[in-house]
Amino acid sequence: MRGFLAKGMVAALLSLSLGLFASAAAAPGAQKALQIYFIDVEGGQATLFVTPEGKSLLIDTGWPGNNGRDANRIATAAKDAGVKKIDFVLITHYHDDHVGGASQLAAKIPIGTFIDHGENRETTSEGSKRGFAAYQQLLATGKYKHITAKPGEVLPISGMQVRVVTADGELIERPLPGGGGKENASCANAAKPPVDVTENPRSLGTLITFGKLRILDLGDLTSDKEMDLMCPMNKIGAVDIYIVSHHGFLQSGSAVLVHAITPRVAVMDNGPKKGGSPVAWDVIEKSPGLEDLWQLRYAEEGGDAHNVAAPFLANLQGPDTGNYLKVTAAADGSFAVLNSRTRETKKYEAKKN
Ligand SMILES: [Zn+2]
Repeated sequence: MRGFLAKGMVAALLSLSLGLFASAAAAPGAQKALQIYFIDVEGGQATLFVTPEGKSLLIDTGWPGNNGRDANRIATAAKDAGVKKIDFVLITHYHDDHVGGASQLAAKIPIGTFIDHGENRETTSEGSKRGFAAYQQLLATGKYKHITAKPGEVLPISGMQVRVVTADGELIERPLPGGGGKENASCANAAKPPVDVTENPRSLGTLITFGKLRILDLGDLTSDKEMDLMCPMNKIGAVDIYIVSHHGFLQSGSAVLVHAITPRVAVMDNGPKKGGSPVAWDVIEKSPGLEDLWQLRYAEEGGDAHNVAAPFLANLQGPDTGNYLKVTAAADGSFAVLNSRTRETKKYEAKKN
C-alpha cells in the first residue's frame, strides 16, 4: 500500500517530479498550486495553506514558550511559501498546543484576521483559561479583524473554499455539496462514545475545497461529535486529504468518521509522546481506499508496528529536528507530498471519474 517503487522507477519518478517542479518556476500556469505546510510543532497543530494568489490561512499556532520555537517554524514555512503576512489565523480551540503560540506568532509576522469558535468553554482548566486570556489580549489590541465562525458558513478567504462544519459543539445540519448525504455503514455497530466536556469537541472544523480537491480538518474534535456528524448519514462525503483529528489520539478518529470520508492520504500531526495511539492508527490504516498515512513524528507509544515506514515520517526517533511535510495541490485534484527531511516527493494522480 505504501511501499516505495523499485530503484529504477524511483529515478524515473524523481526526474519526472524534478521536471515538474523545475517547469513550475518557469511556466506561469504552474504557479496555480495550493501549498499546504504541515509544520512540526511537537504534538500541537500548525497547518499553513497558501493559495496560488498568495493568500494564506494558518490553522492553529502550536505551543507557547520554547523561545518561540513554533512561531519561528511557522514564519520559516511562510517565508518558504513566499508570504510576508498571514491573512487568516484560525484557532480551532483554546488548548495550549493550538492557541498557545498566537502571541509569539503575532510578534513575529503580520496577521490580518483571527477566526475562532467564540468563548472558552473549559473554564475549569487553568491551561485553557490562560491560553484564552492571552488570545483575548491579542484581540484587544485592535490590530486584527475577528470572526466568530458558525457551522455552514464559508469563510471570506479567496482562492479556495473554507467551509465551517463544526464550531463550539455545533455541527452542520445538512449534508455538504460534493458527496455528503449517503448512509454511513460504519454507524451500525458503533457504540456511543462518552461525552467529552473539554474544549476538544468545541473545535472549529473546516472542509477546504480547492478545485476538485477536498481536505478535512476537525482540530481535536472527539468521537462523540464525530458520531453526531456522521451518523446515520455521512454529511461530509469523501475527502482526498484528512488532517488526522487530535494528533491521532484514541479519543478521536473513530471508524464512523475515517471509514466514511475514505481519505486517499492522511497526515498526522503527532509528537513523539503525544498522539499516534495504536487504536486510532489502526483505524486509519484500515480505511478503505487509503493510499498513504504520513506522520510528523515517530510515535513512541506505537513502536514499529504502529508507525509508518521511514520515507513517510517527517522526523525519525531521536532529537527534535523540526522537519515538515508539504502538500502541493492542483485544482484537478492531483497533489504531491514533500518530506522536508528526505527531500523526496511522492505524487498522487487526479482521480479518474
Ligand atoms: Zn491538540
